[in-house]
Parts: sequence; C-alpha cells; structure tokens
Amino acid sequence: MPTPVLERDDVLIRVKAAAICGSDVERIHCRTASTVTPVIIGHEFSGVVEKVGENVVRWRPGDRVVSENTGYVCGECHACRSGKFLNCPERKLIGGKVDGGFAEFVRIPGEVLRIYPQSLRRLPDNLTFEEGAILEPSANAYYAVIQEGGLQLGHNLVVFGPGAIGLFIVAWAKLAGAARIVLVGGNANRLECGKRLGADSIVNYRETPGVAKAIESAIGRDQADLIVDASSGGDVLADAIAVSRPLGRIVKVGWTGRQPVNLDPAMRKGLEIVGHLGYDTESWDRVLRLAGLGRLDYRQFISEAFPLGQWREAFRGMEERRFLRAIFNSF
Ligand SMILES: [Zn+2]
Ligand SMILES: [Zn+2]
Repeated sequence: MPTPVLERDDVLIRVKAAAICGSDVERIHCRTASTVTPVIIGHEFSGVVEKVGENVVRWRPGDRVVSENTGYVCGECHACRSGKFLNCPERKLIGGKVDGGFAEFVRIPGEVLRIYPQSLRRLPDNLTFEEGAILEPSANAYYAVIQEGGLQLGHNLVVFGPGAIGLFIVAWAKLAGAARIVLVGGNANRLECGKRLGADSIVNYRETPGVAKAIESAIGRDQADLIVDASSGGDVLADAIAVSRPLGRIVKVGWTGRQPVNLDPAMRKGLEIVGHLGYDTESWDRVLRLAGLGRLDYRQFISEAFPLGQWREAFRGMEERRFLRAIFNSF
C-alpha cells in the first residue's frame, strides 16, 4: 500500500504493534457490517508519530501513541454532544471503514482529531508497543465492568466468555475488590488463564449440563450482583437472567445469540440489562493511568507475535482459538 498522503490536520502513525481482535477474524470473512471493502483492517494498534500536518500542534514526530480507533464521527448527534463518540450512529472504525493498523502506516484523520482529540492517546513510557496494542480491549472491559456494571467492593460477579475482553473484565474486577468471580466458557485453556487472573470458580459449559446450577453452587442462590456477558454469539442471556439476584444488573458486551430470549423473568426480578459498546474517554483515562502504574501485567494477554507477512498463520491461530491475542510487530 502507498504511504497515506497527509492533509493539514492529519497525523501519520508508524505502526509498531497491532493486535488481531476476534472481530477481525469475522472481518476477513466479510461477515461484519462495520467494515467496507477494500480496507486495511486492524483497530488495536500502537506506534510512533511519523509526521504531522502543518496545522497540528498537539502531536510531534517521535511521540509514542495508541489510537482508540475512531476514524470518523459526526460531531452533532446526541452521542457526540454527550462525549459518547462510540455511540455515534455515523462512527467509522479505523480498521473497519477507515484504513487501519495492519500496515506500516496509519493516517489519523484531522477531522476526527478536531471533534474528538482524545481519540489519540499517549502511550505510557513503561509499556511496550505490544502491550500498548491491547490497551483497547482492556479499556473496553473496564467500561463494561466498572462504569456500566458499577462493580463495587464486595460484589459477586459472573462473567460469560473468556475471550480477551472477558479475561480483562476478570482482572479489573479482581483489582476492584470483587468478592467472588465466576467465569463461564467452553475453552479450557482460557478458563485456566481466567483462574490465574483472579476467577474464583470456573464453569466449562461443555462439561457442565446446567450452567445456572453450577453458578449457583459456586456462589449460592440469588448471589450474583453483576453479570457481564462477554461471550461471542453464545445464547447465554437466559442463564444470566436465571442466576442474577433480584434487582441485579446484566451488561451485554458480546453480540447477541440467535435464540429469542424470554425477558419476563428479568422483569419479575427488576433487572437492568445494559447494552455495551466500546469505551469512553474516562475508561481510557483510567486504564492508561493504571497501565502507567503497572497495575496489570498486559503480557499475560499476548499469545504470540508475528511479522505482518505471516498473517495467515496469525489469523489461523485466532480462528482456531489457540491464541487470545496474536500481535503483529514488524511491518
Ligand atoms: Zn476489537
Ligand atoms: Zn455523532
């Protein structure tokens, strides 16, 4: 690909590390509506500012940065006016509808930097670029469990789906003082990883016929204060509703399953079901602060690094779920 041409307000990033997200596996099969073709995918990336347009004052060549991957927002809708840019219906993802991080260079459009300057962030000095590339899923997890979930010291938490976001949720919840954390999934390796990160009980649904029963026997009946569904396409909402305590909260991170769900039991319990998307500026502020303090060891989430030329191998490992996050680190 040719190096992007810079307009006056644009910033050009030399990519140093870019992680493959589960959604990128969907993207290379053209199974997602958030992507146009042709496009360079890759929305979890970090790098160094290579060059800036003549109007740019905030960034300089050599700055270490991580993108929060917004490539376009309208700046006028309710979400934009509230600073919740991820919910802008016009939002375009860098690596979805705007060229992204699986390349030597990424152009951050000046238009988005004007409306949403915090879409490009400084990478803390103590983090490697590889670690920087996975700040994005960690911000996503932080938003889900701490901000939307409202997790409090002493809460019991149930997490469905031990993918990268689910595992970051476990790690943040442990740091935030959750009482008991139950992690539910079907991949034994990832469940073990969840245990190392702080899950007190794991439930493998492939080996456990009644997931709701197993959760109850781990923490007791009506003891789940907060449930985060971070599973991909799993039909877990019915189980989440069944195990939630009355007046509990369910945060829906994973895109929904195919089965219709009866919401009547949720009404009887007075549950809140919160729709989740991404993160906001506050999530990034706090995650960058914690990462800068070294509170979370990001290396635990990186499975393997590849040069971009070996993308088939990297994607294969992601698709077969052998890798949690594969990273490209040379381009
Ligand atoms: Zn992603
Ligand atoms: Zn908008």
